[in-house]
This record gives sequence, C-alpha cells and structure tokens, in this order.
Amino acid sequence: MLILECPCCGVLADETELTAGGEAHLKRFGPESSDDEFEGYLFRRENPRGVHFERWRHSHGCGKWFHAARNTVTLEVYGTYSAQTTEPPEAIRQKISGVAPGWKWRLFK
Ligand SMILES: [Zn+2]
Repeated sequence: MLILECPCCGVLADETELTAGGEAHLKRFGPESSDDEFEGYLFRRENPRGVHFERWRHSHGCGKWFHAARNTVTLEVYGTYSAQTTEPPEAIRQKISGVAPGWKWRLFK
C-alpha cells in the first residue's frame, strides 16, 4: 500500500485517503502557443519505469494538493513537497541521485 506524508498537514496518509492527480511539473502553455505545445500539455505524459513525480490530493484530510517523488518499480517514496513549486526540492533530487545513479532532473523545453 502506498503511504505518503502530506506536506501540508503532516499526516501519513495511505492511498485510500488520497486522490491521484497525474504527472507533476507540467509546463503550461497559453493561447499563443503552437498547436504542438498545446497538444503536448494536454495529452503527452511520461510513464517511466523508475523515478516519477506525481500530483496527489489529500482528499480525505486537509484537501490540499501536493507533489510526491517516488519510484514506480520499487514503490520507494523519496519525498513529498508543496505543489507550489516548479521543480523538486534540491534535497529530494540529491536523495534520488544517491539511490539511482545516473538519474538527472529533466529539463523542460
Ligand atoms: Zn494534508
């Protein structure tokens, strides 16, 4: 069972208290973007085998959205953090680099 610590209220919540919100850190494109950029924003998602960044909502708790960094193969959770960030905190990136050599934070186009 997936257990995530809500960074907003500090509760350890199992997946029955949470709602998945898809991939985190999507770059949003406005009306002046190209069709390809807008299509990518709407439909293209990563589905990695390994490190992944996701949005979650503590729907049966404080109701707030947050981000989680976890491994989709081992189910290891590297950390949770505020949804009001454009990239994972440095401490979480260093933790991931320590257990997944060669992993790098992606750079958005
Ligand atoms: Zn919460």
